[in-house]
Amino acid sequence: MSDDRRLIDLLDRLARVAGNDRNALGLNPVQWEALRFFARANRFSCNPSGLRQYLGVTKGTVSQTIIALEKKGLLKKAPDPQDRRGVEVRLTASGKKLLADDPLNRWQADLAALPSAKRRSLESALGDLLRAALHNRERQPFGFCRDCVHFLRHHENGEPHFCALLEAPLSDDDSALICREQSPG
Ligand code: SF4
Repeated sequence: MSDDRRLIDLLDRLARVAGNDRNALGLNPVQWEALRFFARANRFSCNPSGLRQYLGVTKGTVSQTIIALEKKGLLKKAPDPQDRRGVEVRLTASGKKLLADDPLNRWQADLAALPSAKRRSLESALGDLLRAALHNRERQPFGFCRDCVHFLRHHENGEPHFCALLEAPLSDDDSALICREQSPG
């Protein structure tokens, strides 16, 4: 077996272990991913089409997922201040509370078994691999705002930062969110 084939099998098994952890507390895996997405997406991305791009699923799946999470009282929709015809989707207080018990938190204990240097190099390698996989499939990276080529730190028109692409002020909190327009710097 080649080294790369071994690596692919390891990634596949890890994804399966993570998948087994995901069916928990009455939510299916896509519903968990939607909750995580809306907790981390910035104001330009926290809408149904942002979720569709992020997950790479159909409009129907996104719509059913959002309806199911609204019925459970975990998500709420509001008019999108950026787009009069659009909606913004955010977590309710119950959604935030449930997310604190995210089943993927179990990985923190698993990762703690690795030395810090190994964790950091794993983070770097997996980040590179994910970017390459998304690029090869023509999908958006949805990286952090602060790592974007358009992010202008401490700009005169910022709060304190500024987005050169969308011409919008950005806060420190915004800089730590993910964005559909992100272009890695
Ligand atoms: S700087 Fe980049 S990531 Fe941040 S809001 Fe602008 S386009 Fe999105």
